[in-house]
Amino acid sequence: MQNTMDLHTHTIASGHAYSTLTENLNAAREKGLRIIGISDHAPAMPGSTHEYYFSNLRVIPEYIDGIRVLKGVELNILDGEGRIDLDERTLSFLDYAIVSLHPPCFDGGNAEFNTDAILKACEHPLVKIIGHPDDSRYPLNYERLVVGAKERGVLLEVNNSSLSPNAFRENARENYLELLKFCKLHEVMVIINSDSHYHQYIGEDGFAKALLSETEFPEHLIANYTLAEEVANWLSTFEKNRR
Ligand SMILES: [Zn+2]
Ligand SMILES: [Zn+2]
Repeated sequence: MQNTMDLHTHTIASGHAYSTLTENLNAAREKGLRIIGISDHAPAMPGSTHEYYFSNLRVIPEYIDGIRVLKGVELNILDGEGRIDLDERTLSFLDYAIVSLHPPCFDGGNAEFNTDAILKACEHPLVKIIGHPDDSRYPLNYERLVVGAKERGVLLEVNNSSLSPNAFRENARENYLELLKFCKLHEVMVIINSDSHYHQYIGEDGFAKALLSETEFPEHLIANYTLAEEVANWLSTFEKNRR
């Protein structure tokens, strides 16, 4: 099936990514994407950008060359209470947010502590995606995470970069096998994202797709295929689903 969206992408604004928004959009068009999400790192990530960058994303058109451009952020979860690193006013200008655990922003604890932190962060209505829940540096209780994501109407990401041979996250493959098992069991949706930090990776999904097909993961639980049918209304559809 044709993947038509990539909602986890970085630009030079993130401080450790190397392409501009225009280069990312050109790559998205070449890959045939219909929807791209800009999700630069929120300010607690060393070297990332100021909050003004996020509130001013509204100057970017909704459509560029026929591609729907969603304005987002990859928020850092800061502590066990699930605190995040943009204020309400700044968030109000955005279409969606990803929440992720990153060194050095989150110290981490045991699997229950880390899982609680993510699920608490997901209580915010703008949070639509749990980014790369696949890193053994932050162990998780996968069944509780999957059920909690479903209850909150948040998508679990299958991060293509985590599965690449030169990934720095640990044991992604093993962790995804665990996560996908519970997603199947409880009928919970995932989304494939590139987590591109350089434009040639925009829309890349090969490692994620290979793993999903290896596990015979049902296509109706992959948001890139099922929700893509309603690209124009994707966010409002999602909003309805979470009520
Ligand atoms: Zn991340
Ligand atoms: Zn990222």
